[in-house]
Amino acid sequence: MQIYNTLTKKIEEFIPNDSNNVKMYTCGPTVYHFAHIGNMRNYIGHDILEKTLLYLGYNVTRAMNITDVGHLTSDSDSGEDKMEVARKRENKSSMEIAKFYTDAFFRDFKKLNCKMPEIVSPATENIDMYIKMIEKLIEDEYAYISGGNIYFDISKLKDYYKLTNHKIDEMVVGARDSVEKDNKKKNQADFALWFTTSKFEGHELLWDSPWGKGYPGWHIECSGISIKYLGEYLDIHGGGVDNIFPHHTNEIAQSESYLGHKWCNYWFHNEHLLDESGKMSKSNGAILTVSVLEDEGYDPLAFRFMCLNSHYRKQLTFTYDSLKQAQDTLNKLRNKISNLNNDGEINQEVFDKYNNSFKNIISDDLNTANAITLLYDLLKDSDVNDKTKLELISNFDRVFGVDLIKEEEIDDELKKYIEEKIEERKQAKIDKNFELADKIREELLSKNIEIKDTREGTIYSIVK
Ligand code: AMP
Ligand code: ZN
Repeated sequence: MQIYNTLTKKIEEFIPNDSNNVKMYTCGPTVYHFAHIGNMRNYIGHDILEKTLLYLGYNVTRAMNITDVGHLTSDSDSGEDKMEVARKRENKSSMEIAKFYTDAFFRDFKKLNCKMPEIVSPATENIDMYIKMIEKLIEDEYAYISGGNIYFDISKLKDYYKLTNHKIDEMVVGARDSVEKDNKKKNQADFALWFTTSKFEGHELLWDSPWGKGYPGWHIECSGISIKYLGEYLDIHGGGVDNIFPHHTNEIAQSESYLGHKWCNYWFHNEHLLDESGKMSKSNGAILTVSVLEDEGYDPLAFRFMCLNSHYRKQLTFTYDSLKQAQDTLNKLRNKISNLNNDGEINQEVFDKYNNSFKNIISDDLNTANAITLLYDLLKDSDVNDKTKLELISNFDRVFGVDLIKEEEIDDELKKYIEEKIEERKQAKIDKNFELADKIREELLSKNIEIKDTREGTIYSIVK
């Protein structure tokens, strides 16, 4: 697979550290509010990346954090903890806020057909790991204690800015709005690893540490969770482009100083979703969420389809007109596909030809828009029989994830009937009454219900 690497600023061949096994880390949401569809564009991008790797035959172990403490209102060290802002706004505990918005996030995540990473870990559950890392960073003189807080000393690194195009003088106070002069820091671009003192009183979540009661900085959370669950060598790590600086720059600094070697080979960044007024943000008044799109009558997958039609490294402006267009196109595609006939044989040669083209296109820096063009070419190709088309489309949709082949709706009554029959057949098999078991299978088949015995139990599908 060819992929753009922010670290080298080039499209490169993707070569994992351990042959076929990929370790992937995604920066998770800060759960102080609903995730907007801009955030979700980022997770769709990561989902496409993971599913492309799976399609190409890699094994992927992916971890994602949930930021439930330590992310201040600026991405640097100024402002209040976003969770504290939410706690005061909603008059609830931080943990209640975190649970509520984490659940809401994963509801939207699933509606967008995003695959759950194997490891999802809230920042508050890994405090020991951050303390262990910070202790070593202090011991090795990469970090220092000042005014009760622990800071990373960026002057200890020759290549602190290697991920970003920022120059040190651009970071001078005043050059960026988000940087506030902090007298506790040796260098103004140093960043906090642990806070015991802050401008804001009454931080709810505090943990004991060798430096007093306090809480971790946002950046150390992702390094800690990634190293704890995925080990010392990471293949690919990503987020939105706003994460390049300071978040990922700081993650590299502290992880590599802690580990004593290079940490992650590929850095993957998704461009932003904009609205007509600019970058979408959670603090910009009304939040445009997946539920809002649903309330307006749209299928969340129409939004996913809209994202697939543009490249992940290009900004995309959201309008309801473009969403409507995506919804109409997706409906037409699904309609066309539902008219394909599932009878006949798969033509293996044709299957391989299209499948290889799909793999080549999608491994060209995740060119989803061209992969959709290939889907149209396939649908138009009169030399390909329907059965082969359906098989290819169902494979392509493992990456697209837009339900191109809609499962037939099964009503509750039918579901109950099938489940009872499956139970009856199970009992017949236990009783060694195979005649009855076969009869039940045939009875179901006569109603177009096909059952299959798998390691996970008996599953069923409606045959057309
Ligand atoms: P947050 O919940 O604020 O920590 O953000 C979650 C993820 O969404 C981060 O990786 C951000 O880089 C990403 N993100 C934030 N705003 C946008 C946007 N407008 N478009 C795309 N991604 C975004
Ligand atoms: Zn992160």
